[in-house]
Amino acid sequence: MPTPATRAPAPSTLLDTISLYLHIPFCHTKCHYCDFNSYAGLLGWRSRYVGALISEIRALGEAARSADGSPRRCRTIFFGGGTPSLLKASEVAEVIAAARQSFAVDGDAEITLEANPGTLEYGHLGDLRATGVNRLSMGAQSFDAGLLKWMGRIHSPAEIVAAMRSARDASFDNVNLDFIFALPDQTMAQWRDTLDRAIDLAPDHLSLYSLIVEPTTPLFEWVAAGTVTPASEDVAADMYQYAQERLAAAGYVQYEISNWARDGRQCQHNLTYWRNLPYLGAGAGAHSSYAGRRYSDARPVADYVAAIAPDWRPTAATIGLVGGPVVESTKIARAEAVAETIILALRLNEGLGLADFAARFSCPIEAIYRAQIDQLTGWGLIEIAGSRDGDRRLRLTERGRLVGNEVFERFLPAGK
Ligand code: SF4
Repeated sequence: MPTPATRAPAPSTLLDTISLYLHIPFCHTKCHYCDFNSYAGLLGWRSRYVGALISEIRALGEAARSADGSPRRCRTIFFGGGTPSLLKASEVAEVIAAARQSFAVDGDAEITLEANPGTLEYGHLGDLRATGVNRLSMGAQSFDAGLLKWMGRIHSPAEIVAAMRSARDASFDNVNLDFIFALPDQTMAQWRDTLDRAIDLAPDHLSLYSLIVEPTTPLFEWVAAGTVTPASEDVAADMYQYAQERLAAAGYVQYEISNWARDGRQCQHNLTYWRNLPYLGAGAGAHSSYAGRRYSDARPVADYVAAIAPDWRPTAATIGLVGGPVVESTKIARAEAVAETIILALRLNEGLGLADFAARFSCPIEAIYRAQIDQLTGWGLIEIAGSRDGDRRLRLTERGRLVGNEVFERFLPAGK
């Protein structure tokens, strides 16, 4: 088992802070495998959308003030999509300014913007860096031109290289590249070549995801019609295992099931999710987990913009309830919060700090899951590492990592 990349701060000490997710739903074209809330052909809405987004950020900032009336501390901001690099730098600057006016954003907050290599040029990137965005996450996906085309991506391998060079020229020293593996008919040689060329670019962070065939996508229909055959689980496992070895040899530390980083470059925003800490989402279809509720905004761009009425003013008591842009809202039961905290933490190499878990839920984990822990430990799928109470951590073993979903299921509350 690799050693944890960082010693986790005790998550329970961060429960009164938030991370801010901002959804930008515009794309040039829709990729064949994509089920994200993203739309081609709606760029004409951009200016109205940014106005609505800023209104929502301000409303959330007011509603989420601390008990003493001061703005809530915000540790990270993440522009996700869609293709946030389709925003003008001036629009990104306005959104960040609204966030800073509405929340107590840490001076060194990680501010990430997802970018499509096909939508970047140097001038834009320099302007983006000047807005305070300090981390770029680029959807590279593959270095194989044929596979990129098959996925419906608009960029070429050469554009990934050019985008990386432009990012460095624009002083981005924290850049992630996303890749997808286990594509239909993808060979191991293609995957090896993609990883080699990715490593040559020396990104600070890599996210690798196996292709999932999602309902409502063209890919799903192709598979259903039998014109496309998904890669087998064995092929996916071989590619994953190869990536683990190749990236470790190149000096990257795996800190989560799908994520690798150079030291100090773990994605702080995504760590908020895996540590099951509060986050607020703004924008079409954005999700939030805050004050014991999980909720989401209207997905269609037009519905979202129309719902941000000037008189929509959530308060500390009503934040997260259906109304304004919020169309779905559920209370998070304690058993669900407990299970989620364990399952999400097990995705991380650092695992779950048992003393912190006990402090957060006023109960040792063994009081709830003794049987499951004994069984999974006996099977060699999880382990409790560390000797003193303060640093005992529950983690997946190397074997457990290969069958993570089966381990996670054991921690689900009854009926889930
Ligand atoms: S660029 Fe990303 S968000 Fe947009 S359609 Fe493709 S995969 Fe989906």
